[in-house]
Amino acid sequence: MDTKFIKKEDGEKGILEAARLLKNGELVAIPTETVYGLAANALDGDAVEKIFLAKGRPQDNPLIVHISQTDEILPLVEGFDDRAKALAEAFWPGPLTIILPKSERIPTQVSAGLDTVAVRMPSHPTARAIIKACGFPLAAPSANTSGKPSPTSAAHVMDDMNGKIAAVVDGGNCDVGIESTVITLAQNTPRILRPGGITHEQLESVLGNVEIDKAVFKALENDEKVLSPGMKYKHYSPNARVIIVKGSLENFAKFAADRQEKTCVVCFDGEERAMSVPAFSYGHADNPQEQARELFDVLRRVDDENMELALVRFPSLDGVGIAVYNRLLRAAGFEVVEL
Ligand code: AMP
Ligand code: MG
Repeated sequence: MDTKFIKKEDGEKGILEAARLLKNGELVAIPTETVYGLAANALDGDAVEKIFLAKGRPQDNPLIVHISQTDEILPLVEGFDDRAKALAEAFWPGPLTIILPKSERIPTQVSAGLDTVAVRMPSHPTARAIIKACGFPLAAPSANTSGKPSPTSAAHVMDDMNGKIAAVVDGGNCDVGIESTVITLAQNTPRILRPGGITHEQLESVLGNVEIDKAVFKALENDEKVLSPGMKYKHYSPNARVIIVKGSLENFAKFAADRQEKTCVVCFDGEERAMSVPAFSYGHADNPQEQARELFDVLRRVDDENMELALVRFPSLDGVGIAVYNRLLRAAGFEVVEL
């Protein structure tokens, strides 16, 4: 299949072309403020099935449904309660995914057999314009090959999906750079299943007590039950082995210099000069937003340079930093070294 590259300059015409393909049941990668999404008509189970094939995504991992305005959630869920309304009012459009009991309109391919559905309204104007032009919601997981770092540019999407999908819509680099926060309201106490662009503190300011699922920071045992199926897979990882390393800059640089493998480091801006191996920086040490925005691009560069090992400086844990750490833990298969 020839994958069409729809440019920014195509404007309205490009949006209509993307909508035409989606109406035909094809897959189109679209820009959002979090990461690029691989979209299909969320109400068409056959179209949604193609997403799993293109990504090589495990069948039991459900998809997020994207809408362009809040009232579009009503036919998709059973009971848009006061808590959901308050969250939508505070954080939509934006990087928050809300899980609620699903309605009959959601095909089982979207919910992967669960009785709930995950819904989000993105803030990226191109994403919303495409959903509006379609007239139906879009199921869209990240537009990477399953397991690889999520794509934060149209070029990343092409690297993984060229030849496998109908089109990619270029909307520039993603602003947030990591996936949405996923919160479930399908139980008494709301619970964060995946940290992301909206923080725990922000959610508690609206809802009061919000739990954090233990899978956020911990590898699951093989037989452990998991609320968010996506959490059990190794994820976001380059081909190179990734290790998160905690320690002073000096000790870190020495640890990297002593390794036998073809090693690079993922460090903070300004630290490159202290390193004797190739260094890629992912934002300033005290700026978790920058770290989120640059993380996935840097993880892809590690493979572009054919590295065997990437040692990553321990991220800031403030605000969105928790989400950065969550992605890094999965990229590293939970390998953390303290010097
Ligand atoms: P992705 O779209 O690739 O960022 O992945 C979506 C994430 O949301 C995965 O971690 C899924 O497991 C999670 N998710 C989607 N729908 C549900 C649901 N109904 N219940 C729990 N987790 C969900
Ligand atoms: Mg993903």
